[in-house]
Amino acid sequence: MKIHDENAVDKELFEELKIDCSKCSGLCCTALYFSKLDGFPEDKEAGKPCVNLQSDFRCKIHAELPRRKMKGCLGYDCFGAGQKVTQTIYPHTTWSTENNPQQIFEVFLIVFQLHQILYYLAEAKTILPARNLWYDIEVLITENKSICSAPTKDILTTDINDYRKRANECLKKVSNLVKLNYSLDKKEHEKNYMGKAFKGKNFHGADFTMTLLIAAKFNGCNFNGANFLGADTRDTDFSDADLSEAVYLTQGQVNSARGNSATKLPINLTHPITWC
Ligand code: SF4
Repeated sequence: MKIHDENAVDKELFEELKIDCSKCSGLCCTALYFSKLDGFPEDKEAGKPCVNLQSDFRCKIHAELPRRKMKGCLGYDCFGAGQKVTQTIYPHTTWSTENNPQQIFEVFLIVFQLHQILYYLAEAKTILPARNLWYDIEVLITENKSICSAPTKDILTTDINDYRKRANECLKKVSNLVKLNYSLDKKEHEKNYMGKAFKGKNFHGADFTMTLLIAAKFNGCNFNGANFLGADTRDTDFSDADLSEAVYLTQGQVNSARGNSATKLPINLTHPITWC
């Protein structure tokens, strides 16, 4: 079943929401707390630069991240918030030249959350079974862009909880409309997927929202209409699988997973260099 309308894809917006470390000042590698256990190089507190971040904001071990199994770094996706904050919101300064960089980090964290929502909304506005909601989605997109373009003092004082709640309700309505097109075997979706093999199965309309799919083997499976919102896809094997009509799948989830050149992805996502 056709889920996405390719003609409705806002290529420019998806481009803006693509992580581009070359235009960032290493914000995620500095502003965030992270731990070795989650696939980062060290246990680090928020606001402290990673040991591998160089003074030019490039990662010293970038080319070695896959070999060193830095799953946290490979799977992280700022949805373009890093370059937005560095290039547009603070074009004349960076956290490294500020006496008190905390404000930049706080703005980054807010813009990151807004861009993440924006990404899902941009996809929702291409989903054919939810065509009747496209106008409401566009209104939410416009509101999101307006908060991100506001002066920093307004970004910092905006209560985004109300906005997030309304956007989440809308995204939920969209996924429910997708689900209506499939009759699901309930048992199939109560399974524990971690580490298990499901070669060649159909997961049409499956709801993987916030599900642990770690190291599951989905070789050759088809995910038409399957919802991946917040699913943990670390080391999930999608070799030869068809994800082209999957819903709410992100580049970060794809980067965390395994796959090959035969894996089919939605139009807005790209194959990681490690998938050969
Ligand atoms: S290892 Fe590189 S990509 Fe990972 S957090 Fe450190 S600087 Fe960033």
